[in-house]
Amino acid sequence: MDAAKVDHNELYRLPWTLPDNAISWLEPTAQCNLACDGCYRDNEKDSHKTFEEVKHDLDIFQKYRKTDCISIAGGDPLLYPNIIELVAEIKFRRIKPIINTNGFALTMDLLRELKEAGVYGFTFHVDSKQGRTSEWKGKNEIELNELRYQYASMLAEVGNISCSFNSTVYEDTIEYVPDLVEWAAKNIDIVQTMVFIAFRHVVPQMPYDWYANGDKVDWQTIMYHSESERKIDILSTHVLAEVKKRFPEFTPAAYLNGTEKADSFKWMLSQRVGSKEKIYGYLGAKFMELIMAGHHFLNGTYLSYASPATTRMGRTSLLTLWPFDKGVRKALGRMLANPLRFLRRAHMQTILFIQPVDFMQDGRQSMCDGCPDMTVYNNELVWSCRMEEPKQFGTFLRSVPKN
Ligand code: SF4
Repeated sequence: MDAAKVDHNELYRLPWTLPDNAISWLEPTAQCNLACDGCYRDNEKDSHKTFEEVKHDLDIFQKYRKTDCISIAGGDPLLYPNIIELVAEIKFRRIKPIINTNGFALTMDLLRELKEAGVYGFTFHVDSKQGRTSEWKGKNEIELNELRYQYASMLAEVGNISCSFNSTVYEDTIEYVPDLVEWAAKNIDIVQTMVFIAFRHVVPQMPYDWYANGDKVDWQTIMYHSESERKIDILSTHVLAEVKKRFPEFTPAAYLNGTEKADSFKWMLSQRVGSKEKIYGYLGAKFMELIMAGHHFLNGTYLSYASPATTRMGRTSLLTLWPFDKGVRKALGRMLANPLRFLRRAHMQTILFIQPVDFMQDGRQSMCDGCPDMTVYNNELVWSCRMEEPKQFGTFLRSVPKN
């Protein structure tokens, strides 16, 4: 697998930290109606928290962290009986409620109720390893674009709800990422964000013993493990190389480094602008810095999701911010090169690659520095991607190289 060469010093390091972040991750339930291959949460029936418990989790977030949005995840949050009240509660606290769902339980009636309660956006998890049934059974990533389009159209019909998709990227599905990036470009008017998350699991080929509070534990009891050898070291730069093969101009603008590796790209973010017919260009590091700093100055939080009303301001952004960013200047030049393009509405779109935990040779674990997806467990902020460890062992596991 080829890796693209990227100098992290040329990208904007997103300013997200533990106490001041764009995103936070709330799990009102662990119950789900699908069983995704790469899932990191034990699917527990009847695991809904009480509404009081969920409000307490929100209090913990607000005690420890400024946040622009709350991702309501799980499990599938649409199965949570108080989902409407929860969305309204988050909105009441002046935070953007975002629903992270597989979409299976979403109906137009429920969507309208959620909109009325104040939902700001959705992130739909759609990929080919979710065990979907009926007409989506056995469909590959390209064929699933039809389902993605259905969800995006539902949001567009209700109006001004931010629309994102995420997919887990496996060894045998990475080849499809450029197809999804292309599909997103064609639907740039109704899709705000595409997220690709590299698959991670504990697997037999890992050369570590696992310890909890000094006691050796059995890795096979960890929920996120596979019994057979699998590729668990896909990097953001691998995904980028795959995309660049088809779109050589595709350029990242911002990143989050690893806690143990300054030049790794745990989150690698690209921001592009264009119309349904043509992508004009990729905005650069200075654009991202202006947006993050400006939003924090005006609102006190770093920007997470942008509404469709904002992302459709691509033309205005190019016309006003060109002095500050060379990516903006390039995109503006392309737009002005054809008068017809200037008349068309230009939209902005985010493409994000996420590379979860990396294990170093000496056993250190490199997490996302300034993890946006921190959740609450036992009144503490913990990595949501590894919460099963404190739940099962009381602590995060240490990986120690085998003798
Ligand atoms: S550390 Fe885990 S939970 Fe946090 S952003 Fe990275 S993958 Fe997500």
